[in-house]
Amino acid sequence: MKPKATKKNVIILSMTLTVFVVATAVVLILKMVNGKSGENVESAKDTSAEQVDENDNETEEANSEAEKHNEEVSEEVKQDAKETVVPTAAVPTGGNCSTALGKLMLINANFTVDNTFIANRRNQLVDLATTYGVREANSWNGTPLLDSEAAAQLYEMMRAYSAENQGHSLSTMSCFRSYGTSCGRLCAATGTSDHHTGYTCDLIDTDYGSTLDTDYYNSHPDWQWLKANSYKYGFIDRYPIEWAGSSMSEPLNVDANGTTGYYETWHYRYVGNPAATEIAQGKYNGGRYDSLEHYLKMIGMVKSLNPAGC
Ligand SMILES: [Zn+2]
Repeated sequence: MKPKATKKNVIILSMTLTVFVVATAVVLILKMVNGKSGENVESAKDTSAEQVDENDNETEEANSEAEKHNEEVSEEVKQDAKETVVPTAAVPTGGNCSTALGKLMLINANFTVDNTFIANRRNQLVDLATTYGVREANSWNGTPLLDSEAAAQLYEMMRAYSAENQGHSLSTMSCFRSYGTSCGRLCAATGTSDHHTGYTCDLIDTDYGSTLDTDYYNSHPDWQWLKANSYKYGFIDRYPIEWAGSSMSEPLNVDANGTTGYYETWHYRYVGNPAATEIAQGKYNGGRYDSLEHYLKMIGMVKSLNPAGC
């Protein structure tokens, strides 16, 4: 019995030892595995934290760049508005909001201005004669006055005309006017004249005659040159024949589609180069010369060309 019992004990002891060894091994292996994965989690945490920091920095940089850019753009827009928009104090009551359009301002029989506007506008203009030495062909018109930006561009246009037409030069025949005239079909009454804008001059090369008459268009290479080239300097033929209307009779034909009622081959109006180019090339008029009225309606600057339509 004894040896038998001993053999049995040995078996039990070795089994216990085996279980202990295996259990210890399992615990050690588990510890190792846990330790490694813990390290992995830690390093993963570090990496993602660094990336988040970097991302934050990049986002902050991008945000401040964007803010800086937006501020610059806003300043440009504000500055441009300051330069081109007539002070609201000068905008008359009575529904004419188009005078706030700066160099795109519209004054006609349907969009009128009052004497307060006209007086204020006069004080915002520069003297072409003393600033640029421009000659006013009709002394009774007084000093030629024009918006400063328009004046600088007019001077460039006059220089270009003289350079391309040796021995010739352009003169003004009335720019800003405080008063209109009620002479009928070819004259605009006070409050309705494009000359009140401070962006307009009648122009002529007196070598070809000093009478403003559309019948002389063919004998006036100056007016033909202006029609072809003025847009490069931001000026437009304000009253092209295409938009004059059907007849040269009363009442003045200013219609809701953009007809002006006038045909004046010497009357040039500053609107700035982008608008002048689109008007001269007829972007919104099938490639044919546009009227300022029709253009402003097409680009949505005025909703309607009827009285008080903006
Ligand atoms: Zn005129």
